[in-house]
Amino acid sequence: MSQRKITNIKTQVKHIALKTPFKTALRETSEVEFVRVYVEDENGNVGIGEAPATKAITGEGIEDILGSIESVKERFLDIECKEALELLHSECNIGSSAKAALDIAFVSLDAKQKNRSLAEQFCIEDFAPIKTDITISLNEADVMLSDAKKAYVEKKEILKVKVGSDILHAVDVIRKIANSLPQAEILVDANQAWSFEDSHFFINNMLGVKIELIEQPVVAADLESLKKITELSHIPTLADEAVFTLIDAKKVMESKSADMINIKLMKCGGVTKAIEILEYAREKNITCMLGSMLEGPYSINMALYLAFAYRDVIKYVDLDSPLLYKEPSKELDFEFNGCEISLKK
Ligand SMILES: [Mg+2]
Repeated sequence: MSQRKITNIKTQVKHIALKTPFKTALRETSEVEFVRVYVEDENGNVGIGEAPATKAITGEGIEDILGSIESVKERFLDIECKEALELLHSECNIGSSAKAALDIAFVSLDAKQKNRSLAEQFCIEDFAPIKTDITISLNEADVMLSDAKKAYVEKKEILKVKVGSDILHAVDVIRKIANSLPQAEILVDANQAWSFEDSHFFINNMLGVKIELIEQPVVAADLESLKKITELSHIPTLADEAVFTLIDAKKVMESKSADMINIKLMKCGGVTKAIEILEYAREKNITCMLGSMLEGPYSINMALYLAFAYRDVIKYVDLDSPLLYKEPSKELDFEFNGCEISLKK
């Protein structure tokens, strides 16, 4: 039991180039930029965590994440992981991504100290491959259609299609993709870009069009409109930006504002907090998506272990960042075959 105390915490800024620029209603980027945090113990074991810059979503840029970690790191020195996790989640008033990076590092270090793999740490029993969606970036309709066809040919048949505030474009592009790829599973993500009227218009134009769900049509704070959309829609709705924490998840589900929730480590503050939401979802039979931002390999690894461990409540996996990297990452614990993901042997 001895020599488990944390002795050193350091950070590094990393970049991974993307194959093609990633565009949503909120932003455009050509690389993943993230902070990697290394937490070391007395024995030289190291736990690694990561958090990407997603100013548009969590409000945190790279400098914010670095500053947050710097401002709290002294408090974790000379204590063990369990205590560090408690302290992080009860007393550290920092952004959710910075918190997630530290949480992932502490959980990883804790597993190492116990000589357990992360699969063992999360008691994963079923290793059958899971499937992730692939993001189709916001673009001219014809470009999106050709991106969708290309993905489908590469056996990525669950498409998360990013749409923007131009509602006629959204209707047009979803119809085009659904018509030309009738076997594809189509998830529509508006990233808060629509009004209630836009949403109503879109849904009315989707009668007979096969789509799985509509994700976060209206601004996060407008639960009232989201609830009205959920009531009138024949297509299930998924709350993303409206759900950061367990409290948000309960609020959205209890008020019946959406049919499903999207859980992301960077929104809720890490794997410890994601597990609390997943346990709540399991208890209440709530269907979830496990999503991510555009992230680096260590935070994606952690999300993927969760996706395997909670496959009973996670119906949708949105962890396609590694498919968008220009070069495959050696730091991933998982391999991708089309949209199928399995643990590396
Ligand atoms: Mg989303």
